[in-house]
Amino acid sequence: MGKIMSIANQKGGVGKTTSSVNLSACLAHLGNKVLLVDVDPQGNATSGTGVNKADVKHCIYNVLVEDLPAEEVCISTTIDNLDIIPATIQLAGAEIELVPTISREIRLKKSLENLKLDYDYIIIDCPPSLGLLTLNALTASDSVIIPVQCEYYALEGLSQLLNTIRLVQKHLNKTLMIEGVLLTMLDARTNLGLQVIEEVKKYFQDKVYQTIIPRNVRLGEAPSHGLPIITYDAKSKGAEVYLELAKEVMANGERVR
Ligand code: ADP
Ligand code: MG
Repeated sequence: MGKIMSIANQKGGVGKTTSSVNLSACLAHLGNKVLLVDVDPQGNATSGTGVNKADVKHCIYNVLVEDLPAEEVCISTTIDNLDIIPATIQLAGAEIELVPTISREIRLKKSLENLKLDYDYIIIDCPPSLGLLTLNALTASDSVIIPVQCEYYALEGLSQLLNTIRLVQKHLNKTLMIEGVLLTMLDARTNLGLQVIEEVKKYFQDKVYQTIIPRNVRLGEAPSHGLPIITYDAKSKGAEVYLELAKEVMANGERVR
C-alpha cells in the first residue's frame, strides 16, 4: 500500500507546491509509482506538472463534493510514473459547500482508499489555510511534511499548524505522524538563514531533513514551463536537492506495512 503524505503549512509562499511537484517527480524518477493530489484551488501543482487547467473536465472538487470516484479524475502527466488528481478554481467553493455535508473531514481519505493500492506514494499539496481542505488532507495522510521558509519569523504560525495536527490526531486520524520538516528557500549568503536553520533544528530536532532547499532561480522558472525541475534542468542545484530529498523520504520508510 502506498504511503500518503500531505505537504502542509498555512503560510503561503513557503514552498509547499514547489516541494509537492518536485518531490513527487523525483520519487517517480527514482522508480516509484506516484500520485500527486492537488487540493489547492489555485491549482499550481496542476499547472506545474504540465496539465492545462482549461482542459480539465473533472477535478478534486467533483470527488470531494460530488462523490465522483477519484480513479475517474486521476490523469497521467508527461512524467513517467507520475499521475495527478488536478484542482481548478472550482475547488474554491468546496470549503463552504462541504460544511453541511456528512463526514466532511474524511471525504478525501475515503476517496483515496482504492487508489492507495496502485501507488508507492501519494503526495497531497495543501492550500495555504487550515480549513476543511487541509483537514481532509491531514485526515487522509499517514504523515505530514512541513516546509519552513528560511526567513525571519520562520517559526511563527507553526504552533497553529501543530495544534491542528494534534486535533486531527485526537479526533480524526490517530496515526498521523510528522514525516519531516523541510527548510526551503535558503539564501546561503546571509547569516539569517543559518540562524533560522539552528532555531528550527532546536525546535524540531531530528525531524528536520538533512536536505535543505536553497533559493534557486531554475526552481522558480520551472513551473512556468509546466515542468518539474528534474525535467526542466536536470543539472541544476534545484534538481540535485530535490533528488536528495526524495532519497531521504524513501529511506524513511517506503510503504506503510
Ligand atoms: P506555496 O505553495 O507554499 O504557496 P510555492 O511553492 O508556490 O509556495 O512557492 C512560492 C514561490 O516561490 C513560487 O513562485 C515558487 O516558484 C518560488 N519558489 C519556491 N521555492 C523556491 C526556491 N527554492 N528557489 C526559488 N524560488 C522558489
Ligand atoms: Mg501552493
